[in-house]
Amino acid sequence: MRLFFSADQLLHRPTQYGVHGRLVRPLENPDRAETLIGSLARLGLSAEAPPAVDRGAVLKVHPGHYVDFLETAYDRFQALPNAGPEVLPNAHPYFSGASVFGARPAPKTQGILGQCGWYIGDLSCAMTAQTFKAALASASTAAAATEAVRGGARAAFALCRPPGHHAYPDRANGFCFFNNAAIAAEILRQRFARVAILDFDTHHGDGTQAIFYARDDVFFGSVHTDPTAYYPHFFGYGDERGTGAGEGCNLNLPLAPGSGDGAYVAAVRRLAEAADDFGAEAIVLSAGWDAHRDDPLSKLDVSTAAYPKIAEILKSLARPTVIVQEGGYSLAAVAEAAPAFVESFGVD
Ligand SMILES: [Zn+2]
Repeated sequence: MRLFFSADQLLHRPTQYGVHGRLVRPLENPDRAETLIGSLARLGLSAEAPPAVDRGAVLKVHPGHYVDFLETAYDRFQALPNAGPEVLPNAHPYFSGASVFGARPAPKTQGILGQCGWYIGDLSCAMTAQTFKAALASASTAAAATEAVRGGARAAFALCRPPGHHAYPDRANGFCFFNNAAIAAEILRQRFARVAILDFDTHHGDGTQAIFYARDDVFFGSVHTDPTAYYPHFFGYGDERGTGAGEGCNLNLPLAPGSGDGAYVAAVRRLAEAADDFGAEAIVLSAGWDAHRDDPLSKLDVSTAAYPKIAEILKSLARPTVIVQEGGYSLAAVAEAAPAFVESFGVD
């Protein structure tokens, strides 16, 4: 299995993350990527640096006005009087939480504060001077791994950071700026008629769902913690099944807090069966390790032993597979779960 990683991804080092009414040090930090590199090296995998992503590959998922915002936001924000160290929104538009899918038009407001509210969904996406470069490098990593699979590799691991599955077409959210899994799926679609994205991060991949919600060529399936009282709160419910041509191409399997290995593994088995029924010819895995019981964000009771089991299930699909790194915030749990998964999936 080839492993892709760009050192530019370490450049995103925000100091602020809003949680429970406080700004604290972000859980999503460069140590996570370095821990993953070290743990996968024990399996004999060494990372290859990706070439810079084709901007066109990003624009297949994200509109140009959003990419332009991310590229210019830091410098524009710094021009504000008394600007803080990082871009953070403090005003948000009215936004219907019901069924807004696809990209919105560019906002009428031209000011940086209004645009921050339009394009940044929460306080987990503080932007530094290097954030855009790191996010683009993360997308590059996903694209390079996907090109390897499109070219015939059985599987490739994209060690993406910052992660991607909460990023909407035109909105950063939940530590995510570009939706790496969606970029991977669009590249795979150039060769494969039907692609499934299966997401086993403990958070619902709301951005990915939104991007493909009306599509019948890309299936999205997710196991995650019930969002009734958990991030991302507004999406991830079992009655979200897709719309229009995409009706039936979206499957959410929320788990009650406290659910353990049995429920988690059974849910991944259902996702794999659904991808098979869909006729997926290639797979993107949104791989998060934050369902682990030791993760600081986890409300589930999943152990390291679950990860080789779900790898076995996903491997049995026998489809070309891109593994895209998403969440996982306990360095100790990440160092166990990720290599356990990859070893079971097969390092060859
Ligand atoms: Zn997560």
